[in-house]
Amino acid sequence: MVDVLKKNQIRRIYSDNPVIEEIIGEARPIINEHVVLKYGGHSSNFLQFSKIASIPSNLSIVAFEIAKNFARVPVNKVITMALPGNIPLSVALASEMKSTVMRILQGKSVATVMADVDKRHYPVGLRRGFDIQDGDYVLISTDVITTGHGVRDLAKIVKEAGGTLAGIASFANRGLTPLEEIARDVGLPIDKVFALVEFDFDHFDANNENRCEHCGPDGPKSFKELD
Ligand SMILES: [Zn+2]
Repeated sequence: MVDVLKKNQIRRIYSDNPVIEEIIGEARPIINEHVVLKYGGHSSNFLQFSKIASIPSNLSIVAFEIAKNFARVPVNKVITMALPGNIPLSVALASEMKSTVMRILQGKSVATVMADVDKRHYPVGLRRGFDIQDGDYVLISTDVITTGHGVRDLAKIVKEAGGTLAGIASFANRGLTPLEEIARDVGLPIDKVFALVEFDFDHFDANNENRCEHCGPDGPKSFKELD
């Protein structure tokens, strides 16, 4: 058990269900490769949540363990960035939230809402056809928190549309940004911002003045723009 934690650079799992560790051990979602993350920093580790999400039984267990922490929070929509790991997680989470909050919202189902926050690829905002209205209670779902920029942008989208931000739910925090910081920035109490697994990945600053210590003069061998 300890070996799995150590091997996978896990700082803490916020669940007493030992299956979460087993899922991480078996799905092997951590790719040990020097990469450029979306915010510009470099890391020796990339968490490929899609590897967990590609197994439906894993996905439903993970979603259940996350949803448990929002059992008393009224939610009728789950918003996410329309990216490969996020989409299945948000749909699974919406399904679990339906079962936990039905009594609060009188049986209404929980819908998933897709949004974009990376303006280089799509306009920032809700994807065409999705909406958030006054009176909606919206939970933000994401697979991995790095800097929290993405979830902060989603919080802005929710508030500007007139929705109430119900919380932020993530599978992982890479260990770079404390959740307290994100909670404070978006105006949520800390118990409404949750990441199931906290990792202890390394992060290296890299910009024109500050060269990453792990890269040669030509930059990283493997250049990937990843979050
Ligand atoms: Zn580097």
